[in-house]
Amino acid sequence: MNPTATDRSAIERMLRVHLEGRGIRDPRVLHAMATVPRDQFVPSEMRAHAWDDAPLPIGQGQTISQPYIVALMTELAEIEPGDRVLEVGTGCGYQTAVLLQLTPHVYTIEVRPELAEQARRRLEPLGLPPDHLRVGDGSRGWPEHAPFDAILVTAAPRTVPQPLLEQLTPGGRLVIPVGDEFSGQQLLRIRKDQEGGFATESIIPVRFVPLIPEKQTD
Ligand code: SAM
Repeated sequence: MNPTATDRSAIERMLRVHLEGRGIRDPRVLHAMATVPRDQFVPSEMRAHAWDDAPLPIGQGQTISQPYIVALMTELAEIEPGDRVLEVGTGCGYQTAVLLQLTPHVYTIEVRPELAEQARRRLEPLGLPPDHLRVGDGSRGWPEHAPFDAILVTAAPRTVPQPLLEQLTPGGRLVIPVGDEFSGQQLLRIRKDQEGGFATESIIPVRFVPLIPEKQTD
């Protein structure tokens, strides 16, 4: 569906004020954010707010991340065309759709079956192969498809899951919020070097839903 004039002006505002205005510079990321119809990923009663720079509820107590955070995490992941990318926490599929604008090799894991099913219906028409989305605990990564050039995690564990570090290529980037509601969370970018060592950058304080084990989805 083509955006209406109202949507176009809301998209323009999101790009100029919330993304470029806060330091997002990569033209490919800005183009991806302008292209993916965020209003198609939120519940119909939220569509009027789809382009606001705010997280919105998507059901099951979960949220679609605010556009700035989606753009920031995508930029930090430094995705090149042809890169293999893993996303942990598909949610409504919006971040997945943004990643698909940058590379076709996107894999995504969601722990809640109902959210995964909704996301699958949205993402298959956008080019995500059916076997690139699975239900499960993403903190274990996806060893069958590893290694990945970039891994993005959109729910916060208390500590960085070791399997995700192991499943990075040399030079690969893990972008992940870490912490809890008491100590606070930091968005980290962890880069694996050619010798298998890691360099961690602390980017900004963030607030994500917790990363939960598969058996605790109720
Ligand atoms: N990526 C989404 C977007 O585009 O807006 C946002 C997802 S929401 C902030 C975080 C998601 O992570 C939720 O859908 C939640 O069910 C999921 N999640 C939580 N723990 C998980 C786990 N261990 N493995 C996979 N997904 C998990």
